[in-house]
Amino acid sequence: MASVIRHDWHREEVLALFALPFPVLLHRAASVHREQFDPADVQISTLLSVKTGGCPEDCAYCPQAQRYSTGVDAQKLMVTDEVVAKARQAKAAGASRFCMGAAWRSPKDRDIPKVAAMIREVKALGLETCATLGMLSGEQATALREAGLDYYNHNLDTAPDYYDSIIHTRQYQDRLDTLAHVRDAGLKTCCGGIVGMGETREHRAGLLLALATLPAHPDSVPINRLVQVAGTPLHGTAALDPFEFVRMIAVARIVMPRSMVRLSAGREAMSDELQALCFLAGANSIFHGEKLLTTGNPDTERDLALFERLGLRPMAVTVDATGHDRPGTVHADITAGGPCGRAA
Ligand code: SF4
Repeated sequence: MASVIRHDWHREEVLALFALPFPVLLHRAASVHREQFDPADVQISTLLSVKTGGCPEDCAYCPQAQRYSTGVDAQKLMVTDEVVAKARQAKAAGASRFCMGAAWRSPKDRDIPKVAAMIREVKALGLETCATLGMLSGEQATALREAGLDYYNHNLDTAPDYYDSIIHTRQYQDRLDTLAHVRDAGLKTCCGGIVGMGETREHRAGLLLALATLPAHPDSVPINRLVQVAGTPLHGTAALDPFEFVRMIAVARIVMPRSMVRLSAGREAMSDELQALCFLAGANSIFHGEKLLTTGNPDTERDLALFERLGLRPMAVTVDATGHDRPGTVHADITAGGPCGRAA
């Protein structure tokens, strides 16, 4: 019998899942995965940053925060024609969805028409659209939806009770409010977080609990593994046990059976064997970086070779009557990324 989609998970239940013997946890997660998806299908997501660096926020993991010396040069918002050219390139490379990311705390109202123009033109190419722009008001979310936006990425980053160890320039409730505005505007959500930031297992369970008890499970759940960047406060943090990362993936799959659980930032540093364990644990989406647009590069070749060795194939996706991604047609995201918490 298929798993019931629940929004009433309790902390103790989530922690009990984390504590299962590793083979038992993986078997359970893999069983849930098979109920909802073909486990040989893996969705591929990529990124285009339309405005990089210079962010006023203080996310302790992020090289795009202007207050840290990380060597990231701040760039202005790209012009629409440049974005559309990238979108055409993505479509030619097989993408059916194009995501645009900007390193903002939140867009100013004067930015919305510029982003709306990008969304309209990308949509006119026949692509689905996705954006990650920081916190949104209800009016901004509605304006983006009216311009043709399909998805919005906005991560919770970590557990509510660890949030003020990582970010001081906004509150957890700010994130929840934006997610509510996004849902209310009729947009689909992409929402996850980052592990390996010095948090405890309780915090990791707390992040998954926060995600799994949202009024609607996010359509995509990116699980980022911290990429330590010199100059950021989290540089030098003790590395997370790779098996604990796999447990995080497995528990995410069990508590959010129908979501795309995505290996995101930090994947490049994972061994093929660790990635294979993550696929066994229920990951069914990978974050690929803007390099997807340039076929033949070594990272793309490595991914394709891993897919072949494991018998995996790029997922074909459609959106079903309930608005959830289901297997069907070819799909790829182009989203904001890097180690930014907004990476999808
Ligand atoms: S994670 Fe996003 S909001 Fe935080 S500093 Fe980086 S770009 Fe800004």
